[in-house]
Amino acid sequence: ATAAETRRFEAEVAQVLHLVTHSLYSHKEIFLRELISNASDACDKLRFESIASPDLLAGQPELHIDVSRDRDARTITIRDTGIGMSRDEVVANIGSIASSGTRRFLEALGAEQKADARLIGQFGVGFYSAFVVADRVTVLTRRAGAAPGEGVKWESDGRGEYTLEAVELPERGTTVVLHLKADEDEFLDGWKLRALITKYSDHVAFPIRMPKDAASDAGDDDADDAGEAGTGADAAKPAPAWDTVNDASALWTRPKSEISDDEYQNFYKSLGHDFNDAAAWSHNRVEGSQSFTTLLYIPSQPPFDLMMGGRDERKGLKLYIKRVFIMDAAEELLPNYLRFVRGVVDADDLPLNVSREILQHNRQLERIKGACVKRVLDMIERLSRDEPEKFAAFLKAFGNTLKEGIVEDHGNRERIAKLLRFASTRGEGDARTVSLDDYIGRMQEGQDAIWYVTADGHRAAAGSPQLEAFRARDIEVLLMSDRIDEWMLGHLREYGGKPLKHVAKGELPLDEAEKQKLADAAGAAAPLLERIKGLLGDRVEDVRVSARLTDSPSCLALSEWEMAPHLAHLLREAGQ
Ligand code: ADP
Ligand code: MG
Repeated sequence: ATAAETRRFEAEVAQVLHLVTHSLYSHKEIFLRELISNASDACDKLRFESIASPDLLAGQPELHIDVSRDRDARTITIRDTGIGMSRDEVVANIGSIASSGTRRFLEALGAEQKADARLIGQFGVGFYSAFVVADRVTVLTRRAGAAPGEGVKWESDGRGEYTLEAVELPERGTTVVLHLKADEDEFLDGWKLRALITKYSDHVAFPIRMPKDAASDAGDDDADDAGEAGTGADAAKPAPAWDTVNDASALWTRPKSEISDDEYQNFYKSLGHDFNDAAAWSHNRVEGSQSFTTLLYIPSQPPFDLMMGGRDERKGLKLYIKRVFIMDAAEELLPNYLRFVRGVVDADDLPLNVSREILQHNRQLERIKGACVKRVLDMIERLSRDEPEKFAAFLKAFGNTLKEGIVEDHGNRERIAKLLRFASTRGEGDARTVSLDDYIGRMQEGQDAIWYVTADGHRAAAGSPQLEAFRARDIEVLLMSDRIDEWMLGHLREYGGKPLKHVAKGELPLDEAEKQKLADAAGAAAPLLERIKGLLGDRVEDVRVSARLTDSPSCLALSEWEMAPHLAHLLREAGQ
């Protein structure tokens, strides 16, 4: 073998390592979930690549993940028979910032230098969690299809440098050996490891195995056998017998009635790398000319990416074809305004070698997408009806994202509008609690429109002089002050057969007596109006006597087709 080469981590990796090891301290145990999830990804990738190149499976058709420990050496070993890595891939994937996600993670944290543990997995910094419990990590890996002599050994203490060495490896796949820190002996307990696997990785679709004795007999010394597994067992010792520890069935393929809430929640956590429970889920099988299964979740909290306004990284909705993982396909399977949804879609009838390009223009996929949208809206409706607290939390987290649907999804506009909640002159402070149906239910006799005002803050909306006349006549006005509201309202012209009108635009409904009064006042004020018009000239279109105001002497009004002042202001800001 050639001499080991020493390299430094990219500066950012060192930083990520530092953050991860410190912030994950209270969630140490997730290192196992992260490493198993990488092993599972590696098996997924190999299964997918082997569709086109069956030779890649040569000699070892089985895909599985083995977890073992060695009490004497104080190591934990995670081995998979997945795709493996070439030397270049090792350098690119675990020596440098592989994904733009990691970089964004750093940028996002930059301000506070404090990582929230639940964010880690989302940014693809999972591998480094090994250093939370280990002070040295060894990776032995050989890419599928490569020769035994093309194995790679990577090793690091996680403090800035790593070594790379060419080694001979008899089998493809990856072995990760964790040399535990002095006070991490609890992870050498076979029961503990088994419990962690069931807790976090039960639904990994490949068998996760532990040596028989190691798993069942924690204190036993001969558990050492396990440590040899995978690195070539000593000929004198019998090869250890393995137990499959996890469920290894794809959860979504099982009948609903046999799946407990806990299992659904655990599966959710394994999918989205979320520590929190999901708020709701919907599991359905469609049989027919085209058959598919969907298992969709609504998170209870916004993922970090969404909070940061991120739109490009859309993970969390996995496309399977006949139980083979094909790709993350959130963009192909859901419209943008439902990007917070997580889950699995398993289609029976798509070709396994389908590409992203094909997916974008696939009629079958259009149908699946339509079904997903329907399921998600059903789920949100169910929350709004049956679980007010969860629904309120949902709107807080995703309400503004959902509003984009008014613009993006014409077909479901009314359904989406029904789910939205707004602040109003009848509501409590700035709480968004009033639905359009609530509003319509208490409209005044003769009132023919849903009135709203927009401003760039709740106080500005609530304090608008435009509201005076409405208040005097006891007409409710919705107070819109979220950034997206103007844009949304531009597309929501009507709800429940009632037009939506900006208070600064439409005409107030007047009864006969009021019309008379207005006409009289206009007559009396005619000379004054002429004078004001003369003074303002081109700067106004018209000067009129109005029934809008009760306390203020005058206000600017907009004609039907003019832009609301707030929107005009926004556009000016944007340089339009
Ligand atoms: P993520 O899994 O989110 O991409 P990780 O830090 O967990 O981020 O892993 C970084 C990369 O290292 C993976 O994307 C993959 O390319 C590579 N990798 C890690 N573990 C394995 C493994 N067991 N087999 C093959 N590749 C792996
Ligand atoms: Mg990972």
